[in-house]
Amino acid sequence: MSDYDVIVVGCGNAALCAALSAHENGAKTIVLERAPEDERGGNSYFTAGGFRFAHEGLEDVAEDILTDLSDAERDQIILPPHSREFFMDQMREVTRYQCDEDLAQLLVDRSRMTMGWLRSHSIRFVPMFGRQSYLVDGKHHFYGGVNIEAVGGGAGLVEAEIARAEKLGVEIRYGTAAVGLLQDKNRTVTGVTVRTKGGYDEIYGKTVILACGGFESNPEWRVRYLGVGWDLARVRGTRHNMGEGIKMALDIGAQPYGNWSSCHACEWDISAPPYGDRWVLDNFQKHSYPLGIMVNTDCERFVDEGADYRNLTYAKYGREIMAQPNRTAIQIFDQQTIHRLRDEYRIKEVTKAKADTIEGLAEQLDLDPAKLVKTVEEYNAACQGGEYNPSVLDGVTTKGLKVEKTNWALPINQGPYEAYVCTTGVTFTFGGLRINTSGEVQDMTDQSIPGLYAAGELVGGLFYENYPGGTGLMSGSVFGKLAGESAASYAGASA
Ligand SMILES: Cc1cc2nc3c(=O)[nH]c(=O)nc-3n(C[C@H](O)[C@H](O)[C@H](O)COP(=O)(O)OP(=O)(O)OC[C@H]3O[C@@H](n4cnc5c(N)ncnc54)[C@H](O)[C@@H]3O)c2cc1C
Repeated sequence: MSDYDVIVVGCGNAALCAALSAHENGAKTIVLERAPEDERGGNSYFTAGGFRFAHEGLEDVAEDILTDLSDAERDQIILPPHSREFFMDQMREVTRYQCDEDLAQLLVDRSRMTMGWLRSHSIRFVPMFGRQSYLVDGKHHFYGGVNIEAVGGGAGLVEAEIARAEKLGVEIRYGTAAVGLLQDKNRTVTGVTVRTKGGYDEIYGKTVILACGGFESNPEWRVRYLGVGWDLARVRGTRHNMGEGIKMALDIGAQPYGNWSSCHACEWDISAPPYGDRWVLDNFQKHSYPLGIMVNTDCERFVDEGADYRNLTYAKYGREIMAQPNRTAIQIFDQQTIHRLRDEYRIKEVTKAKADTIEGLAEQLDLDPAKLVKTVEEYNAACQGGEYNPSVLDGVTTKGLKVEKTNWALPINQGPYEAYVCTTGVTFTFGGLRINTSGEVQDMTDQSIPGLYAAGELVGGLFYENYPGGTGLMSGSVFGKLAGESAASYAGASA
């Protein structure tokens, strides 16, 4: 009765990893993509393609991941190791010890080998020179734990995964949204109901892997779970992640899990459209705030811009911006750091002001000049000095402010000044389904729903209130690969 061994719902990184894995384990596999072909790839397409994984430094990574690195490039790179213990500690600290230990440990433990596995499927990687390293004494010092990206970023990653899947003979159907799960009398999942332009249909499979994203694209669910006002936030990526995968699993008794009232959200250009733009991609983000200060429209600072590497603060600062008047934040930099701003500050679609004085900046931005000058002067007076180094937590701090800046606190006093205006961009939601360490979806009594697996954004339990940058793609790959293996085995496939 089954048309397929494995039906994969979704066509982002998690789904494509699941499909590659299921296929290499001998399963006849189909991928269902809600989006039309020219919008395929989900949020994964919009990413920088940056992965966080455990490794022992450059020599280790160069072996089977950064295989294209030249000797000249090697000589220029300082890549700190990222041990499993450190990665796990970061998962715990960033989520304030709320992450599911078993799932987080699995993510960490499988991260290194999954990167090698991706490379074996023709995905190529390069160091993130532009975004995650600072040139210090002639060498590129990488920082923050997310140091390797797929060639071509997220778009390159997805296109390479699709090309690989197609080459291996995996079928992909576009414009095909799964809207319900089919079950037999024993609860075993037997397929999906799909909606296409032509109406409804049923596709039968021995197993289903849900890898179709969270509910960040759905304004009604955002208000329902994230709170009042979240319908007004911009969405950084796809418009297709409406929570349908989560809903269809809950409808058959799956267990809701994780941090439903929180999400990954960051500083995002105020002029960005409601959903992601496939040309600008992630360049609406403005991640260089540790190099300057951030104020609201009352000209008050409201976060410690230097609390940690931006990789560990950006995903929660979007929520802080939501709480500010007009959901707006203004990042201000002076000549000491403007040359270090990330590439995303230099695109033409940027909301920017430039002036010789802070008053001039305020006038251009419709802010109260006296208030902005006061905030900057108070901040400057509180800067303690020290050995400034943007590639380490340098401890160059302010003292005596209501909101301190605890690293990289250079005074803002060398014009011309630049300001960038941001609002909140939602990246993905944290609440989702509970899986076990085989990727099987759990019911309310912690029993596996036979034949049902999940991977990617819609897995709950990994991220709470915050998120270590680069973990989303890694989680999609680790749990996608795992779900593919488990589903193929359950379906009785053999390679
Ligand atoms: C701008 C931006 C930048 C980011 N940068 C990074 C980064 O550099 N590193 C990192 O680790 N993470 C990054 N992230 C987070 C990352 O995108 C996600 O964690 C990851 O891509 C999620 O992968 P996924 O496969 O679970 O979901 P997605 O990639 O969103 O894929 C979901 C898929 O499911 C499809 N779908 C939805 N509903 C249905 C349905 N009912 N039926 C069939 N198909 C359906 C969608 O169309 C899509 O193809 C970024 C996110 C954004 C938006």
